[in-house]
Amino acid sequence: MRTTTPKKETLTSTNPATLEPVGEVEMTHPQQVEEIVQKARNGFPAWRDLGLEKRTEIIKTAQQLLIERCEEFGRLITLEMGRPFVESVVLEVEAVVDSMGYYARNAQKFLSDRRLPLHNILLKRRKSRIHFQPLGVLGIISPWNWSLLIPMGCIVPALLAGNTVIHKHSELTPLVSLKIRELLLDAGVPEESFQIIQGLAPVGQALVDSSVEKIFFTGSTEVGQKIMERGARSLKKTVLELGGHDPAIVCQDADLEITGSGIVWGRFSNCGQNCNAIERVYVHETIAKDFIDLVVEKAKKLRIGNGLDPNTDMGPLASEAQREKMEAIKKYAVDTGANVLLGGHRLDDFPGYFFEPTVILWEKSIPRPIDLEIFGPILFITPVSDDEEAIQLANHSSFGLAASVWTNDANRGRRIAQRIEAGSLMINDSIIAFGIPEADWTGIKNSGVGWVHGEKGLDEMVNIQHINYDPQCHTQNFWWFPYRGSMVRTMKAGFDFMFRRNLAKKIRSIPVLLKNYSSYFLLNRKKSEKL
Ligand code: NAD
Repeated sequence: MRTTTPKKETLTSTNPATLEPVGEVEMTHPQQVEEIVQKARNGFPAWRDLGLEKRTEIIKTAQQLLIERCEEFGRLITLEMGRPFVESVVLEVEAVVDSMGYYARNAQKFLSDRRLPLHNILLKRRKSRIHFQPLGVLGIISPWNWSLLIPMGCIVPALLAGNTVIHKHSELTPLVSLKIRELLLDAGVPEESFQIIQGLAPVGQALVDSSVEKIFFTGSTEVGQKIMERGARSLKKTVLELGGHDPAIVCQDADLEITGSGIVWGRFSNCGQNCNAIERVYVHETIAKDFIDLVVEKAKKLRIGNGLDPNTDMGPLASEAQREKMEAIKKYAVDTGANVLLGGHRLDDFPGYFFEPTVILWEKSIPRPIDLEIFGPILFITPVSDDEEAIQLANHSSFGLAASVWTNDANRGRRIAQRIEAGSLMINDSIIAFGIPEADWTGIKNSGVGWVHGEKGLDEMVNIQHINYDPQCHTQNFWWFPYRGSMVRTMKAGFDFMFRRNLAKKIRSIPVLLKNYSSYFLLNRKKSEKL
């Protein structure tokens, strides 16, 4: 049979602040993906058998290398997707260094075999253990918005657990992908154990169609749904971390100055392109005017520019598509009757994809679409009459990723938090929950399926295997063939003994149990004598 070699195409990474090229990579052809997966599969036994201790050493080495290279990484993150260099290092690289240390310290505890005590007296003599078995080859598909933390939050535990990995990064951040590979290989990860594929949606689709054991996808709800549908054809297991439209509730007792700063940071850091950014604020009417004035004033002061300048607070959006989306959202808001208090326009003084920090007053009488995700520098503010109304409006969304409550009263904050339909809640802060490595991360409603980070995130990367062992291998079990009517009588006495609340019934069951148990015991003795 004749095979054709796929034509090589390249992908150019563009600086969204200057529109200059940052670099170029060769695209993977979808037809090559399964071959790459097979390479990772060939490397799997050696990586698995290397043992957890040696894999942990490699991750610790990678952590040290990342610390040394933190500015190189920070610079590249900024060049490719625009966020301020300070954020790239202080938030993103820091969170990865910390998460590597966390998993390296805890992998032994999380992945060691553990005894499972059995409570049922019929099973008492048996021993159960839980064993954590790597799944094989994992496919990880990432977005561009936290181009180091999001992939590493999956890659590190996947490798530690003994899996080999194929990583497909966003087409907007292919050079960070190369740099991650360089880091891991320099630390001692074998070439086959961690491989990258580069390209657009068809390459991601080919990974979903490939023979990888599981897909870990972070990205939009729309694409997540396509991946789940596509994966279902081969019953592919998928973890999906998807979009959000996070609410913040500001109570009357909140410290206005601090809350204003926190909300402005929670909305405009990373140019609003955080899955768990604050997108809409519900503020108590009694303080609404002062709060809104403060937020507008603080947002006006943000210094916009090239992220490489350490004095830049807000860089560009990552792409022209993102900027067009902001214009469409602003237009929609205005057409619907909302009031733009600040911004709302592209910034043409810069060559890149800049957009003004925008604050929109969205009165509660104006219906809000249930499935809108902003994912850029536009903040909606809605005054509300009380906590109850704030909670109801906050929950009026098809998303359930994260949320925040701003108050001086921790109990009130917790009470409100527990009523919000979201995976992660923060009181008096936002966003950083994603960077707390021990906190399992998930979205509810249309924000996700399954877990990343923490122990649950690691559990998603292993087969949690139950091994049950009967030390008395010469005895026949009570419930095996041949069935006899006496088995039902014995079981009824067993129910009485084990589960009845009435003590007299419990006691009356004992002679029946002893009688039947002794005949079962004799039967087994005869059998073992014959052996
Ligand atoms: P996206 O869904 O467009 O793309 C994500 C990745 O999927 C990219 O690598 C892309 O190339 C790939 N892809 C696109 N179509 C595909 C397909 N049909 N099959 C397989 N792969 C495909 O998302 P994006 O624009 O890169 O990222 C922004 C989105 O990510 C936002 O919605 C944001 O909320 C979400 N996000 C969620 C979390 C979370 O933890 N829940 C974190 C960060 C970002």
